Formats: sequence, structure tokens, C-alpha cells
Amino acid sequence: MIPFSSSTTNRKGWQQQLVEGLRSAVELLDYLGLTTFLDSHMEEAAARFPLRVTRYYANLMERGDFDDPLLRQVLPSPRELETADGFTRDPTGDLTARAGPGMLRKYTGRALVIASGGCAINCRYCFRRHFPYQASRVGPGAWKPLLCELTGDDTVSEIILSGGDPLMLSNSRLETLVGELGRIGHLKRLRIHSRLPVVLPDRVDHGLVEILDETRLKCTLVLHVNHPRELTPELGRALEPLAAAGIILLNQSVLLRKVNDAPGIQVDLCEKLFDYNILPYYLHQLDKVEGAAHFLVADARAREIHGIMRQRLPGYLLPRLVREEPGADSKQPL
Ligand code: SF4
Repeated sequence: MIPFSSSTTNRKGWQQQLVEGLRSAVELLDYLGLTTFLDSHMEEAAARFPLRVTRYYANLMERGDFDDPLLRQVLPSPRELETADGFTRDPTGDLTARAGPGMLRKYTGRALVIASGGCAINCRYCFRRHFPYQASRVGPGAWKPLLCELTGDDTVSEIILSGGDPLMLSNSRLETLVGELGRIGHLKRLRIHSRLPVVLPDRVDHGLVEILDETRLKCTLVLHVNHPRELTPELGRALEPLAAAGIILLNQSVLLRKVNDAPGIQVDLCEKLFDYNILPYYLHQLDKVEGAAHFLVADARAREIHGIMRQRLPGYLLPRLVREEPGADSKQPL
């Protein structure tokens, strides 16, 4: 029996909360009492990559603070319209790693499934902000070719559900997909990369926990938390039943200028993650995606921050500082 201490009984369902999310800079800045900062270029940036944020996440932001580190992650910036050397539309080589409909193959033994093209929030620094999801994702009910491909390749032992955000799938669709994957005998592990619980803890409902608890595949949920303020009691309560069901909880974050590029913030984040039963896994150097240059932290500063973290944290709480390089056979340590 999985303990499930949901405090959500009086709240709207997660899908309804998604529908009611904020969709424009005007709406978000108005919500935060910051309309004086509205700039027409924000809408221009949003036309390239739409603003999308849940009200739950907006409520974690400090009202009246235009420099709030959570706001910076989702508010379109005029600086996204600038070009910068070395910043491209496909910084991680995803397009060349496509291996059939809905699948990317980069590393030995693992296959990444683009399970959904959407997210609950759009992070402005996202390395897939230009990814052609419509052409690359497999619609629900059309997983057969992908499953056939996986069935025929016994070198794959781990499936990574990614996107977009794979937890945008409804429980029934997710249950179908996970069920089919579980029937492929040589698969051992299922990894889900998701930011959804962080920006909408109600997504972790009883149905989701059951799906992950019942599959024979060993499950890992890799969350994406960038700032200690994203770790809330609501998220903690949502994750409890997952931890109780034996789901491994890891975190990967991205080092972002003026968001979390200070040793104190990173140390606080790692310690707080552990309080929530989450182990820090990766600290990513920014993928150089077009439109995100203003988030870049210089390599020297990244190493300095990581060095201080190493001094202050026990080894098991120190994430690996890495970057993804197109064509490389693993993440590259900095
Ligand atoms: S949640 Fe992940 S995939 Fe979605 S926009 Fe943010 S970084 Fe990109």
C-alpha cells in the first residue's frame, strides 16, 4: 500500500491548473505587480518561444521584484532577440541523434523517447526551445513503430522518457506507454525527466504513483530544480509516495546567470534537495541555444562555484558539473 497524503482534495485537478496557467508577459507582470517593466520586445521574444507558466510557480515568485530568480527563468527577455557567437538552434545535436519516430539515440544502452512536445512552463534557456516537436514526437496511440524498434534492439536496457515534459501525458496514456515498455523483455530501467512536479506538484497524483510502482522496470525520476525556493512543502508532500514506492529521485539543474550562479545558492539547493529525498545528480553548464546567451556563466566561474561546493558539501551531495557536447558518447565533465 502506497502512503498518499495528498493535500489537494480541495484544489483543481492538475490538467485544469495547466489550462489556467499564465500565457503572456502582460498577464504575468500584472500578476506580480510589475507592469511598469513591460517591454514590447518581450512579446517579440514570446512570439519565438511562447511564455507559459503555472500559477503555482508564479506564486513562488516575489511580488514586486523584477529580478526574482524564478521570474527570470520564464519571462521572455528582449535579450533573446540578440545573436551571439556559438549559440545555435540545436546546441546538443538532437536533430542528428534522431533514430526514427519519437526517438533519440546518443549513448550506448539508452534510448530517449520524446513522449510529449509540451511543458507546464517554458524555461527561457531550454536547449530544446527550437526543437521541431511536431515532426519528431509520436502522437499517443502511434507508438507501435517505436516499440517495434525497441523490441528489435536488445542493446537498449534503459528508456528515458523526455520531451517536452513526459508527465504532460495523461495517466492513461502514460500507463499504456509504460505498460508496453515493460513488456519488452530486455529493458531493465525507466527514467523519466520531468520538471512538472516542481512547477505543479499536484501532477504527482495517486494514478501516477501507481503506474511507476507497478511496472517491473526499475524507475528513476529525474527532476529539474534550479533554485532552493522551488523546493516547497507541497513538492515534498507530492514526492513522499514516490520515495515510499522505491522510485529513485535525482535532480539536474542548469547553472544560470543571475538565477543560481552563487555558491551559497547551490549549496543550499543541494542540502535542501536531500531533505526532500532527492539526490543532486548533474549541474549543467548552459547549452548554447540561440536566444539564451544572457544566461551563460563563464566556465571559469562555473568551476569556481563547483570548487566551493566541493569544499562545503559531502561527496554524495555534490552534483557533477557537466556539459553536453554534440556527438560525444557521454556528458562531458568540465
Ligand atoms: S521544462 Fe524542461 S523541456 Fe520544458 S521548457 Fe523547461 S527545460 Fe525545456
